[in-house]
Amino acid sequence: MKRDFAALQGEFDLLVCGGGIYGAWTAYDAALRGLKVALVEQGDWAGATSSASSKLIHGGLRYLETYDFKLVRKALKERRMLLQAAPHRVWPLRFGVPVYEDSRNGTLLLKAGLMLYDLLAGFPDGQMRHRHLGQAHFSEHFPFLDDATLKGGFTYGDAQTDDARLVLELVAGAMAHGAVCVNYARLVAWIEERAQVCGATVLDVESGITAQVRARQCVSTAGQWTTATEQGRSWCRLSKGIHLVLPALPTNEAILLTAKEDGRVFFVIPWYGRTLLGTTDTDYRGDIDHVMVEEADVEYLLAVANRYLKTAWTRADVIGSYAGVRVMKQSDAAHPSDASRDWELKTAASGLLYAIGGKLTSAREDATLIVDKVCARLGVVAGCATRGRGFPWKPQQDFAAWSAEVAAAAQRLGIDAECAKWLLHRHGVRVEQVLRMVEEAPQLAARIVPALPFIHADLLLCARDEMAVHLSDLLRRRMPLLILARLDALAVRHLAELVAPVLGWDEARVVQETGACCA
Ligand SMILES: Cc1cc2nc3c(=O)[nH]c(=O)nc-3n(C[C@H](O)[C@H](O)[C@H](O)COP(=O)(O)OP(=O)(O)OC[C@H]3O[C@@H](n4cnc5c(N)ncnc54)[C@H](O)[C@@H]3O)c2cc1C
Repeated sequence: MKRDFAALQGEFDLLVCGGGIYGAWTAYDAALRGLKVALVEQGDWAGATSSASSKLIHGGLRYLETYDFKLVRKALKERRMLLQAAPHRVWPLRFGVPVYEDSRNGTLLLKAGLMLYDLLAGFPDGQMRHRHLGQAHFSEHFPFLDDATLKGGFTYGDAQTDDARLVLELVAGAMAHGAVCVNYARLVAWIEERAQVCGATVLDVESGITAQVRARQCVSTAGQWTTATEQGRSWCRLSKGIHLVLPALPTNEAILLTAKEDGRVFFVIPWYGRTLLGTTDTDYRGDIDHVMVEEADVEYLLAVANRYLKTAWTRADVIGSYAGVRVMKQSDAAHPSDASRDWELKTAASGLLYAIGGKLTSAREDATLIVDKVCARLGVVAGCATRGRGFPWKPQQDFAAWSAEVAAAAQRLGIDAECAKWLLHRHGVRVEQVLRMVEEAPQLAARIVPALPFIHADLLLCARDEMAVHLSDLLRRRMPLLILARLDALAVRHLAELVAPVLGWDEARVVQETGACCA
């Protein structure tokens, strides 16, 4: 993946503004259908909400409470498809739901909900289907949960991903099919002719150069930046969600809990050997360019989680945190948690299409509707090409057999089992390049941070091949060390020095990039 701002010249069939999950799926689908596509992103790929999610590919059990069956069925259908089309990128994750004496939803109601969830998922196999666990069994399963008034509980299957790498792989797929995708390329103005949009002025944030990009159709997948105009504000409701990163708990399953304070659902999720705790959901009217984790958010999450834990988490346990903004269709629901998560396509008078709201899980299907509309306007007859299609980095072979083979090869090279497992998820078939690097330089098999499953060769491959422009692109999204570890300035500088030869950085740039990550 090479960044090439100059390639934005000429006329495109489709210009997409915004490189989150919606822009990535739209560009990939359109490129697969044979359109000449440009995708521009003002920051890094998945630099906004698409790297700040709970990383779940899920139907959303809680939406059953608001009778949003259509949304749940749509998301569960996508979950099933993604588990098959991208077994390296989307993997099963089981969730526990405890039932306490004072739980808002008792055993019977929860059982009914989980049966419906399985039904809407098309009766999945045993790995994904729900199970009831008695008090002792549930307590054994999740020994860190307070069990004084525990009556038992359930486990059920959903799925997990690495959101930023999901976006990156789709951008790579779009590029492999001819799309011109450029990060740090900000769309500064749409160009109109006879009141119809026909392109945009795009700024190369790195060099300060601008380009006039002509396109027959234009789509905005700009997330929260849609609200930069009055019309956008009238379409969208914004809510902020934060997550905390905490030490690992003794489980490889997630837990769905209900906040005793306000009845909101939140999750405790294992990810890369740490625990994600989230999320909050509060109306957002702040600066869309700087969404911050605030002290009140941290206190809220620790308080609601600690009501369930035998050993409370303290502020000192928090390793990292991140915040993101949900865009939802405008609604007058009293609380953002009650507003629909469904997605909508709006058309402005200028012909510009706007993607509003949605979810990581269902973005592929929503993007096909965008591209259907674009194709219809262009007079191109080409159907959706992404449904059921293997992901760009999916191995050709049977995934289980391939994983076992590659994991064994990795371990023969001195890569430990946990790192090997995550390498397969992170890179899919590209893992072979990591192994080759370790073969040539065995010291690259070492972990970067002892507690985390990332090795040096992985970081170097990301630096070499994944269009990282800044150190924060590498350390927050390609490999999320900045949120999963407490890195001091010395450690960050060491990593900057490691990737400097690959990225052509001199000492001044190393200092600058280190400073930006530690600010
Ligand atoms: C806290 C939280 C947890 C969530 N958890 C889940 C989950 O577990 N599962 C799930 O399915 N969904 C989840 N979601 C929803 C999901 O994350 C979002 O629906 C999705 O990421 C939105 O993607 P997007 O592409 O619309 O927006 P974004 O990811 O925000 O992308 C928009 C992009 O447009 C770019 N852009 C804006 N203006 C310009 C411009 N002028 N020029 C160039 N680029 C521009 C921005 O830089 C940005 O990168 C969660 C959301 C939140 C907030």
